[in-house]
Amino acid sequence: MTLNIILLGPPGAGKGTQASRLVEEHGMVQLSTGDMLRAAVRAGTPIGLQAKAVMDAGELVSDEIVSGLIGERLDELGNETSVIFDGYPRTAAQAEALDGILSARGRKLDHVVELVVDEDALVDRITGRFSCANCGEGYHDRYKLPKVEGTCDVCGSHDFKRRPDDNEETVRTRMAEYRAKTEPILPIYEARGIVSKVDGMAAIDVVNDAIEAILRSDAS
Ligand SMILES: [Zn+2]
Repeated sequence: MTLNIILLGPPGAGKGTQASRLVEEHGMVQLSTGDMLRAAVRAGTPIGLQAKAVMDAGELVSDEIVSGLIGERLDELGNETSVIFDGYPRTAAQAEALDGILSARGRKLDHVVELVVDEDALVDRITGRFSCANCGEGYHDRYKLPKVEGTCDVCGSHDFKRRPDDNEETVRTRMAEYRAKTEPILPIYEARGIVSKVDGMAAIDVVNDAIEAILRSDAS
Protein backbone atom coordinates (compact mmCIF):
# COMPACT_ATOMS: atom_id res chain seq x y z
CA MET A 1 0.00 0.00 0.00
CA THR A 2 1.26 3.45 -0.88
CA LEU A 3 1.57 5.94 1.94
CA ASN A 4 1.87 9.69 1.80
CA ILE A 5 2.96 11.26 5.06
CA ILE A 6 4.23 14.56 6.41
CA LEU A 7 6.90 14.39 9.09
CA LEU A 8 7.06 17.44 11.34
CA GLY A 9 9.48 18.35 14.08
CA PRO A 10 11.91 21.09 15.07
CA PRO A 11 15.65 20.79 14.39
CA GLY A 12 17.08 18.42 16.98
CA ALA A 13 13.90 16.36 17.32
CA GLY A 14 15.42 13.50 15.34
CA LYS A 15 13.33 13.99 12.20
CA GLY A 16 16.25 13.19 9.90
CA THR A 17 17.06 9.98 11.78
CA GLN A 18 13.45 8.81 11.72
CA ALA A 19 13.00 9.68 8.06
CA SER A 20 16.07 7.68 7.09
CA ARG A 21 14.73 4.69 9.05
CA LEU A 22 11.52 4.82 7.02
CA VAL A 23 13.51 5.17 3.83
CA GLU A 24 15.66 2.14 4.72
CA GLU A 25 12.94 -0.11 6.09
CA HIS A 26 10.08 0.68 3.74
CA GLY A 27 11.73 2.09 0.65
CA MET A 28 9.87 5.34 1.22
CA VAL A 29 11.24 8.42 -0.53
CA GLN A 30 11.87 11.61 1.41
CA LEU A 31 10.75 14.69 -0.47
CA SER A 32 12.49 17.81 0.76
CA THR A 33 11.65 20.82 -1.40
CA GLY A 34 15.17 22.24 -1.08
CA ASP A 35 16.73 18.99 -2.34
CA MET A 36 14.16 18.62 -5.11
CA LEU A 37 14.77 22.17 -6.25
CA ARG A 38 18.53 21.66 -6.47
CA ALA A 39 18.08 18.33 -8.26
CA ALA A 40 15.61 19.76 -10.80
CA VAL A 41 17.89 22.72 -11.56
CA ARG A 42 20.83 20.34 -12.01
CA ALA A 43 18.85 17.98 -14.24
CA GLY A 44 17.47 20.89 -16.27
CA THR A 45 13.85 19.67 -16.10
CA PRO A 46 11.18 22.12 -17.38
CA ILE A 47 10.33 23.22 -13.83
CA GLY A 48 14.03 23.26 -12.93
CA LEU A 49 14.72 25.71 -15.76
CA GLN A 50 11.87 27.94 -14.61
CA ALA A 51 13.14 27.85 -11.04
CA LYS A 52 16.67 28.65 -12.14
CA ALA A 53 15.52 31.71 -14.07
CA VAL A 54 13.64 32.98 -11.02
CA MET A 55 16.55 32.34 -8.66
CA ASP A 56 19.06 33.89 -11.07
CA ALA A 57 16.89 37.03 -11.01
CA GLY A 58 17.28 37.02 -7.22
CA GLU A 59 13.63 36.24 -6.60
CA LEU A 60 11.97 33.68 -4.38
CA VAL A 61 10.63 30.53 -5.99
CA SER A 62 6.82 30.74 -6.08
CA ASP A 63 4.38 28.22 -4.63
CA GLU A 64 3.41 27.41 -8.20
CA ILE A 65 6.94 26.35 -9.06
CA VAL A 66 7.25 24.31 -5.87
CA SER A 67 3.95 22.59 -6.66
CA GLY A 68 5.18 21.85 -10.16
CA LEU A 69 8.37 20.45 -8.74
CA ILE A 70 6.54 18.09 -6.40
CA GLY A 71 4.23 16.95 -9.18
CA GLU A 72 7.21 16.34 -11.47
CA ARG A 73 8.97 14.29 -8.79
CA LEU A 74 5.86 12.22 -7.97
CA ASP A 75 5.35 11.44 -11.66
CA GLU A 76 8.96 10.31 -11.83
CA LEU A 77 8.50 8.02 -8.80
CA GLY A 78 5.29 6.49 -10.11
CA ASN A 79 2.24 5.47 -8.12
CA GLU A 80 3.74 2.65 -6.09
CA THR A 81 6.25 4.66 -4.08
CA SER A 82 5.42 5.88 -0.58
CA VAL A 83 6.63 9.37 0.21
CA ILE A 84 7.55 11.49 3.23
CA PHE A 85 7.15 15.24 2.90
CA ASP A 86 9.77 17.12 4.86
CA GLY A 87 9.64 20.88 5.38
CA TYR A 88 6.55 21.25 3.20
CA PRO A 89 3.81 22.49 3.30
CA ARG A 90 4.47 25.56 5.43
CA THR A 91 1.39 27.62 4.72
CA ALA A 92 -2.33 26.95 4.40
CA ALA A 93 -2.10 27.76 0.68
CA GLN A 94 0.65 25.19 0.21
CA ALA A 95 -1.38 22.62 2.16
CA GLU A 96 -4.27 23.16 -0.21
CA ALA A 97 -1.97 22.94 -3.22
CA LEU A 98 -0.55 19.67 -1.91
CA ASP A 99 -4.05 18.17 -1.72
CA GLY A 100 -4.54 19.01 -5.37
CA ILE A 101 -1.17 17.61 -6.42
CA LEU A 102 -1.84 14.34 -4.60
CA SER A 103 -5.44 13.86 -5.70
CA ALA A 104 -4.49 14.50 -9.32
CA ARG A 105 -2.30 11.40 -8.97
CA GLY A 106 -4.74 9.22 -7.08
CA ARG A 107 -2.90 9.83 -3.82
CA LYS A 108 -4.04 11.29 -0.55
CA LEU A 109 -2.32 12.38 2.61
CA ASP A 110 -2.52 9.52 5.11
CA HIS A 111 -0.72 10.81 8.17
CA VAL A 112 0.88 13.91 9.61
CA VAL A 113 3.34 12.76 12.26
CA GLU A 114 4.64 15.39 14.64
CA LEU A 115 7.72 14.72 16.75
CA VAL A 116 6.92 16.65 19.89
CA VAL A 117 9.80 17.93 21.99
CA ASP A 118 10.09 19.67 25.32
CA GLU A 119 11.96 22.88 24.56
CA ASP A 120 13.96 23.02 27.81
CA ALA A 121 14.90 19.35 27.53
CA LEU A 122 15.96 19.92 23.93
CA VAL A 123 18.18 22.84 24.98
CA ASP A 124 19.68 20.61 27.67
CA ARG A 125 20.28 17.80 25.18
CA ILE A 126 21.81 19.94 22.45
CA THR A 127 23.93 22.38 24.46
CA GLY A 128 25.81 19.61 26.26
CA ARG A 129 26.80 17.55 23.29
CA PHE A 130 30.28 17.21 21.85
CA SER A 131 32.10 14.58 19.87
CA CYS A 132 35.48 13.03 19.25
CA ALA A 133 37.26 14.99 16.51
CA ASN A 134 38.91 11.80 15.31
CA CYS A 135 36.26 9.03 15.23
CA GLY A 136 33.06 11.05 15.71
CA GLU A 137 31.89 9.24 18.87
CA GLY A 138 29.25 11.38 20.58
CA TYR A 139 29.49 12.57 24.19
CA HIS A 140 27.55 14.81 26.54
CA ASP A 141 28.65 17.09 29.40
CA ARG A 142 25.97 15.77 31.73
CA TYR A 143 24.94 12.36 30.39
CA LYS A 144 27.92 10.75 28.73
CA LEU A 145 31.40 11.88 29.63
CA PRO A 146 34.43 9.88 28.44
CA LYS A 147 35.36 7.22 31.01
CA VAL A 148 38.84 8.74 31.28
CA GLU A 149 38.64 12.53 31.28
CA GLY A 150 39.84 14.02 28.00
CA THR A 151 40.30 10.66 26.25
CA CYS A 152 37.91 9.17 23.69
CA ASP A 153 36.52 5.80 24.87
CA VAL A 154 36.56 4.44 21.35
CA CYS A 155 39.79 5.58 19.73
CA GLY A 156 41.85 7.15 22.53
CA SER A 157 42.05 10.54 20.82
CA HIS A 158 42.38 13.67 22.98
CA ASP A 159 40.70 15.97 20.48
CA PHE A 160 37.05 16.83 20.90
CA LYS A 161 34.81 19.26 19.07
CA ARG A 162 31.54 21.12 19.54
CA ARG A 163 29.27 22.53 16.86
CA PRO A 164 29.14 26.31 17.11
CA ASP A 165 25.35 26.41 16.68
CA ASP A 166 24.76 24.01 19.58
CA ASN A 167 23.93 26.87 21.90
CA GLU A 168 20.77 27.84 23.75
CA GLU A 169 19.99 30.94 21.73
CA THR A 170 20.14 29.08 18.40
CA VAL A 171 18.00 26.22 19.69
CA ARG A 172 15.32 28.60 20.99
CA THR A 173 15.33 30.62 17.77
CA ARG A 174 14.86 27.45 15.73
CA MET A 175 12.00 26.33 17.96
CA ALA A 176 10.27 29.67 17.45
CA GLU A 177 10.74 29.41 13.67
CA TYR A 178 9.38 25.89 13.71
CA ARG A 179 6.27 26.93 15.63
CA ALA A 180 5.68 29.80 13.24
CA LYS A 181 5.86 27.38 10.30
CA THR A 182 3.65 24.63 11.69
CA GLU A 183 0.98 26.81 13.26
CA PRO A 184 -0.70 27.60 9.95
CA ILE A 185 -0.92 23.98 8.80
CA LEU A 186 -1.49 21.79 11.87
CA PRO A 187 -5.13 22.87 12.46
CA ILE A 188 -6.00 21.97 8.86
CA TYR A 189 -4.83 18.40 9.33
CA GLU A 190 -6.09 18.13 12.90
CA ALA A 191 -9.56 18.90 11.58
CA ARG A 192 -9.23 15.84 9.32
CA GLY A 193 -8.11 13.65 12.20
CA ILE A 194 -4.84 12.62 10.57
CA VAL A 195 -2.34 14.20 12.99
CA SER A 196 -0.44 11.89 15.36
CA LYS A 197 1.92 13.17 17.97
CA VAL A 198 4.97 11.17 18.98
CA ASP A 199 7.27 11.90 21.91
CA GLY A 200 10.41 13.02 20.12
CA MET A 201 12.40 12.97 23.37
CA ALA A 202 12.15 9.18 23.67
CA ALA A 203 14.90 6.82 22.50
CA ILE A 204 15.35 6.47 18.73
CA ASP A 205 13.92 2.92 18.63
CA VAL A 206 10.92 3.86 20.75
CA VAL A 207 10.13 6.77 18.44
CA ASN A 208 10.57 4.51 15.42
CA ASP A 209 8.17 1.91 16.89
CA ALA A 210 5.59 4.60 17.57
CA ILE A 211 5.80 5.87 13.98
CA GLU A 212 5.55 2.32 12.62
CA ALA A 213 2.39 1.76 14.67
CA ILE A 214 0.85 4.91 13.23
CA LEU A 215 1.65 3.88 9.66
CA ARG A 216 0.20 0.39 10.26
CA SER A 217 -2.97 1.86 11.70
CA ASP A 218 -4.00 2.61 8.14
CA ALA A 219 -4.15 -1.03 7.13
CA SER A 220 -7.53 -1.53 8.77
ZN1 LIG B 1 37.36 8.83 19.12
